Amino acid sequence: MKIHEYQAKQILSGYGIPVPKGGVANTPEETYNLVESLGGSAVVKAQVHAGGRGKAGGVRLVSSPSEAAEFASSILDTSLVTFQTGPDGVPVRKLLVEEAIDVAKELYLGVVIDGAAEGIVVIASEAGGTEIEEVADSSPEQILRAVVDPVLGFQPHQGRGIAYGLNLDASLIRPVAALIENLCRAFKENDCSLAEINPLVITGDGRALAVDAKLNFDDDAMFRHSDLNEFYDAEQEDAGEVEARKYDINYVKLGGSVGCIVNGAGLAMATMDVVLSGGAEPANFLDIGGGADEDKVAQALNIVLSDKTVDLVLVNIFGGILRCDVAARGFLMAAEAAPHTIRPMVVRMLGTNADEGRRILSESSLDVTLVEDLGGAAEAIRAAIGA
Ligand code: GDP
Ligand code: MN
Repeated sequence: MKIHEYQAKQILSGYGIPVPKGGVANTPEETYNLVESLGGSAVVKAQVHAGGRGKAGGVRLVSSPSEAAEFASSILDTSLVTFQTGPDGVPVRKLLVEEAIDVAKELYLGVVIDGAAEGIVVIASEAGGTEIEEVADSSPEQILRAVVDPVLGFQPHQGRGIAYGLNLDASLIRPVAALIENLCRAFKENDCSLAEINPLVITGDGRALAVDAKLNFDDDAMFRHSDLNEFYDAEQEDAGEVEARKYDINYVKLGGSVGCIVNGAGLAMATMDVVLSGGAEPANFLDIGGGADEDKVAQALNIVLSDKTVDLVLVNIFGGILRCDVAARGFLMAAEAAPHTIRPMVVRMLGTNADEGRRILSESSLDVTLVEDLGGAAEAIRAAIGA
């Protein structure tokens, strides 16, 4: 789950991480008043669940309340497209209005789970700010890493090591080391999948301040954090993903044109590879889960077909707990409810009641190509897209 910058800053400031003074505005008038209360100059920032706002015009330094109100009218209730959003962008409903910070240096600080390191990793760089992706590509030596031992936890010397590595002034070593430790604590206690401060600003008068903040949470741990649910903002998320969440279907929207419906997460990953080997790109990851009934299968197909970029649907069902005839009936159920949305399907079914499932589909009016195995699925995709 993602949350807004202003919410992340609220959480982080509870962990003793310094953030700029400010408030949230929903209208140009509120923006005007906040800027006035901050003394006339401020930074006004679109609150969306995506980074890259600075480059996309979503962050504006203003020098008067009326300039701020004008910017607010131009951006509120529009959608902001950044390099991290799709072409439709995400709606801007709130603005964060903060005191303008005198920036001497921009650092990068992030905490993630690294599968290869088998644990939590702290990443930091002296070259923070909006170009961090390029820094990571072109000068990886500027990226510092520290692996947090899962048993010992974060060690104070690791914080000092990173702070020294960032070439900070002696007076900043302790506060930055403490800030890194606090960020790790926030990450762990809230079951984050990402905690990022970019930029962590060193101000002209020598303080360290989180000028931007991003926290993502592990969805599978949300049951332990009911207090975080109030931060969920469905409007910022992909409509298909919001729908899938309701039915407990694992769905992630991707960029290609072949929709995927699969039971099992590992099989769903392998199925995406099949799409690629067929010369196309997957439109989504979808795992229906083991105990699906007809209704849930129908919902899964509805969700995949609600994506207008899907030209073809690849179904890969390994019938175990979910029987193949149940899956087939679910597809027919979706087709009957919304026949105009149906697109051609390539179906591989194996396992419990596979023959019955295949019979149901081949006797239906659906445009189905039944295949025997994954090689056959790749071939059918290649034929369908004319590659
Ligand atoms: P992002 O582009 O979505 O990551 O949004 P950020 O919150 O990181 O803002 C983008 C950039 O705007 C930052 O990297 C800073 O360079 C700049 N910026 C944001 N707030 C301030 C501020 O208070 N003072 C100054 N001088 N620059 C700021
Ligand atoms: Mn940023």
